[in-house]
Amino acid sequence: IVTPVPVPTAFGGVDHCMLLTFHDQTPLRRVEEMRADFVANASHELRTPLAALSGFIDTLQGPARDDAGARDRFLGIMHAQATRMARLIDDLLSLSRVELSAHVRPDALVDLIPIVRQVVDGLEPLAAERQVRIEVELPQTPVMICGDREELLRLFENLIENALKYGASGSRVVVSSMMDVSLDGAPEFRVAVRDFGRGIAPEHLPRLTERFYRIDAGDSRAQGGTGLGLSLVKHILNRHRGRLLIESVPGHGATFTAGFPPAQAVSRPEV
Ligand code: ADP
Repeated sequence: IVTPVPVPTAFGGVDHCMLLTFHDQTPLRRVEEMRADFVANASHELRTPLAALSGFIDTLQGPARDDAGARDRFLGIMHAQATRMARLIDDLLSLSRVELSAHVRPDALVDLIPIVRQVVDGLEPLAAERQVRIEVELPQTPVMICGDREELLRLFENLIENALKYGASGSRVVVSSMMDVSLDGAPEFRVAVRDFGRGIAPEHLPRLTERFYRIDAGDSRAQGGTGLGLSLVKHILNRHRGRLLIESVPGHGATFTAGFPPAQAVSRPEV
């Protein structure tokens, strides 16, 4: 369920802010519809690059057979399409793996800080390409949570990569953290990823974590997006008893904040 709540935002106001908490109350019929939609969407997403590949193969076997320049150009495009299909399949598999284990809580004690740092380091080449400076404001001391390292890497990869993709080229992305209390008064460790790009209009906020939901499909594809990243983020956070806060002032940027119960607080009863 999506709960619009007046919480203080990174922008100092309470506008355009959406807190997503994950208590599934979806009726069975709606679940069936969503499943059918998902299969239709996934098939469509895979068909598009596949159709492009078939088209180029036909052209290479026919009109472009003896044109070396065209062949090289087409092979480059085919390679990009094949990469896109591979990424989509990877994301679909990750999503189904996380969904299947939704009710099993990850139980390894992990320090969040080196995980976030590793993701930032791995994304430096993309940041350089986009001419974006990543500023990191994280504590020097460990922050332990009960988690799954690989899933947490995926989660922060998605959030920081989105900030680099949809943030303004030539600007900065700030990755910061704070210890606070959640709405039910329990301690919560938060990692916020803030960009200074085009931001997100309020009507899109409640749907952003739906599978294949994109504000601008062409834009997302041009950036190599599959439309599954935030859905994966939602499911990973759900499994970690976490929550996602999305804040944005359109035209000024967006902040995605992941909140986690620290390890010592995990044994509190489920709400
Ligand atoms: P994608 O693979 O398309 O990036 P995501 O699930 O990660 O898929 O994001 C869904 C959509 O949310 C994106 O297509 C984009 O329209 C929007 N979005 C995500 N992050 C941001 C951001 N930081 N700023 C603006 N829009 C964003």
